[in-house]
Amino acid sequence: LKITVDRVPVPVAFGPAFEGETVRREDMHVEFGGQKTPGFELVRTAGPDTVEDGRITLSGPDVDAVEEGGALPLGIVVDIYGRKMEPDFEPVLERRLHHYLNYAQGVWHIGQRDVNWVRISKEAYGRGFRLRHLGVILYAKLKSEFASIVDRVQVRLSTEAGEVTAWRGEAREYYARRDARLAVLSDENVDTFYSCTLCQSFAPTHVCVVLPERVGLCGSVSWLDARAAHEIDPHGCNQPVPKKDVLDAAGGEWASCNEFIRTHSRGTIERVKFYTIMDSPLTSCGCFEALVCIVPECNGFLIVNREHAGMTPAGMTFSTLAGSIGGGVQTPGFMGVGKAYLGSRKFLKADGGLARIVWMPAAFKEQMRPVLEKRAAEDGLGADFVDRIADETVGVEVEEILAFLYEKEHPALSLEPLF
Ligand code: SF4
Ligand code: ZN
Repeated sequence: LKITVDRVPVPVAFGPAFEGETVRREDMHVEFGGQKTPGFELVRTAGPDTVEDGRITLSGPDVDAVEEGGALPLGIVVDIYGRKMEPDFEPVLERRLHHYLNYAQGVWHIGQRDVNWVRISKEAYGRGFRLRHLGVILYAKLKSEFASIVDRVQVRLSTEAGEVTAWRGEAREYYARRDARLAVLSDENVDTFYSCTLCQSFAPTHVCVVLPERVGLCGSVSWLDARAAHEIDPHGCNQPVPKKDVLDAAGGEWASCNEFIRTHSRGTIERVKFYTIMDSPLTSCGCFEALVCIVPECNGFLIVNREHAGMTPAGMTFSTLAGSIGGGVQTPGFMGVGKAYLGSRKFLKADGGLARIVWMPAAFKEQMRPVLEKRAAEDGLGADFVDRIADETVGVEVEEILAFLYEKEHPALSLEPLF
């Protein structure tokens, strides 16, 4: 048993217990980013010669140079050198910044990349918290929690507007490269998927299989993340799932994946087809961001997000539906998904893809609009496809939405019957 103790030399209390704490405007000494000042954060891989372990630098004014309630720009660049560090791990480490900074009492962080927002409370300031302590936190946590891949860490902070803007331009090139890297990954050009069994703590037979084109249903584990997590902790809950011996190419079924799932579901799940929800779909634990559910009368599916409290055409709300499909059981016609999966070329591929979506909450539709429009164009469904999906303003009764779908000539109506 390995016990790690948080000993981070900052003048405020520090630990996961403070993660949920917010710093309200009236309690803050200073804020950064949040679309008010330029701000960004970046973790990047660097060579051994450019990283001096433990070096923390600040250019520009510190927080004692601003009046109470003021704002400053802030750039955070964390350079990592490690013999086993890879650029693909950068986003995994970068996302930890959010957690680590929130561990400090009186420090509040939301967002990521170049849409981050940080506040330091009056109380933390009064106790002597200064900007370099952000670096102290990141150094201590990245070194201890990623010991297997991180050999040296240095943190560069800047509050100087010109410099922050210039650095941010460079950071944006990193972000764009990462997005491009994820975008070109496809299920076809890898030979390994990754499992995630984190949720077995409450859904003991549940196994998520994360594919390049299918994010974990909680929305926070991509294939790159799972792969990185496996490299970082080979005995952890992300394991390689070999992709061998195809049984059903269209449905997305491989003998080796079935074997893995059978073993790791304690023998309860015999087979899984990744590209359909109608036959042997992936199981759902309980933390899916959204839920896909068959609407037989419309020859399609509805998709409802967790935030939507209202009724759906399935005659149930999200929470009622979630209660009936969660827990790690396989329920054909129903499946939990991550929101980003809607943008995947593999989204319900074997069932007819995006064209099967007949209903979704209006706010969710707006949130996903850019992604949906791009995918609809790729699938030849037309730019206006999104507006042919019914929502609660059309109705939550099947008859109401069916009339709308006919009027809009929704493509699901001319697809082959679902069963
Ligand atoms: Fe892992 Fe997310 Fe799946 Fe849970 S829902 S097992 S955390 S990928
Ligand atoms: Zn889960």
